[in-house]
Order: sequence, then C-alpha cells, then structure tokens
Amino acid sequence: MPDDYPEFRLGTVLATSFTATLTERAGDPVERIPTPGRLVDWLDVSGLAVTACTAAQFDRARELREAIHTAATAAALDAAPPAPAVEIINRCSAAGNASARLTPEGNHRWELTAESDVDDALGVIAADAIGILSGARDGRLALCASPTCRAAFFDTSRSRSRRWCEMNTCGNREKKARFNAHRRPSGAADRAARK
Ligand SMILES: [Zn+2]
Repeated sequence: MPDDYPEFRLGTVLATSFTATLTERAGDPVERIPTPGRLVDWLDVSGLAVTACTAAQFDRARELREAIHTAATAAALDAAPPAPAVEIINRCSAAGNASARLTPEGNHRWELTAESDVDDALGVIAADAIGILSGARDGRLALCASPTCRAAFFDTSRSRSRRWCEMNTCGNREKKARFNAHRRPSGAADRAARK
C-alpha cells in the first residue's frame, strides 16, 4: 500500500532531492524509496516519468544516490570528491539519453521521451549533480546542522547562511529542541527564549 511508505522530501534542487530519499543518515536512517516502484513514483513527481524499473536499475539508482551524497559531503567540507563517487556519477551521466531543451521562455529543461527508462532519468540526475558539484551553478553545498541528519544541501540563499536541509523538518525540530532546553531551568530563561 503506497500510504505505508515514508513521504518524499522534495526540494528545489534535483540532485539533493534525490539524496534526500534517504534521510536521518546520521541517526536512524529513513529509506524513502524502499522499492523499485517507489523509485518510479519519485521520478514521476520529480518530472522524470518512466514506466518501469528493473532490479538492476534500482541498484544503479541507489548507487548513484550514495555517490552524489559522498561527493556533495566532500564538497561541503571543501575536499575533493572521492574517485569512486566521481566514476559512478560520470558513468550514469554518460549512460543517459535525455536531451537538454531550451524552453520558449529561455529556460533549460531536460526532456525524456516515451522510450526513456530509469537509466536516462539517472543521467539527468547525474548531470544535475555535476552542475552543483563543479560550481557551474550559483550556490554553495553545505551540511545540515541537525546532528542526526547531516544531509548535504545546496544553499542558494543570498547570504549563503542556510543551516538546515529543510526548515520544515530539521530546522523546526532544532528550534523546538533549543526552546525546550532554554525553558527547563527557570522562568527567566523561558522568557528569553520566547523573545
Ligand atoms: Zn537536515
């Protein structure tokens, strides 16, 4: 039953939305694409609709996801991406057959066709990852401040000072934890925390 699966965490950056299909990586990990069918669902809501996913494609998808996570984490720490991760990302990028399109509004869009399969969709995700890892896109890779999350996210804020992968989840949880910590000792601390 689809309702039993954990919800997707969809951001605005394709590559890091993909790595966010496994969350709480530094705590109790939550796998949000536990089956090939659920990966097809994720691709669908991410604008990369395909009709089916084989077991081998599913393995390649999760391998790519972890390679992007590893490379993005390294980039966030100002380190070079590990060679095996680079190799996987490049292999997936080369295997895909999606085409880059210029929309009438002058925007860039990837186009899959009716014949496109999971490997073509993975090629698009790999290309997106290359864009943020290489610095080709305006933004900065950073790690979520939540100690149980530590997801790599792409900060496009003006000040480049975003702390959490998502305000709605990690950000709010941290704020609540801090509020409760302030609240316990005395009423004065409580009032300070409410300011
Ligand atoms: Zn987070």
